Amino acid sequence: MTHQSDSSPCTALPIPPHDRIISIGWLDADHPFETGKIDRRVFDQLIELLKSPWQPFVFMGIHECSLCQFTGEAKGKSNLFVPANNRIYVAPELIAHYINAHHYKPTDEFCDAILSCPPMRSQQYRAALSKTGLLKVLQNPIGQPMDEFTSRPESGPLREQEGDDGD
Ligand SMILES: [Zn+2]
Repeated sequence: MTHQSDSSPCTALPIPPHDRIISIGWLDADHPFETGKIDRRVFDQLIELLKSPWQPFVFMGIHECSLCQFTGEAKGKSNLFVPANNRIYVAPELIAHYINAHHYKPTDEFCDAILSCPPMRSQQYRAALSKTGLLKVLQNPIGQPMDEFTSRPESGPLREQEGDDGD
């Protein structure tokens, strides 16, 4: 996947880059990245949030880890949208693998944002997103429907692992 520097405006989305929609964890083998220990609670909360991450865009391609030595042992297709500090942080699903397998250390502000992120698809999560004032910016200019927390328009042949969340 395309490398992006941590804390730079995210260019992985089908919208123009925005200075409060921030990249975190868009790593590849050609660019150095921060490593080190992080609080286990951050990792556990990431895994929890990644079980059913809210996706404002229908499908943006599969990411494969390029840091694994020979073959990418992990793939991801979701992105995580984490509201905090009047921003929305955008991390690829692979961020959990980068932390677990490759000792990636995200920024402290992102770790704090993860710890304070409400459960996905909760009213609190919706409110936190809304409070950033950025939800309308995430409206896709090419007319794909937004996931309105209750529908799952991205569900299709490429999301076969997900069950129906029933709401
Ligand atoms: Zn890897």
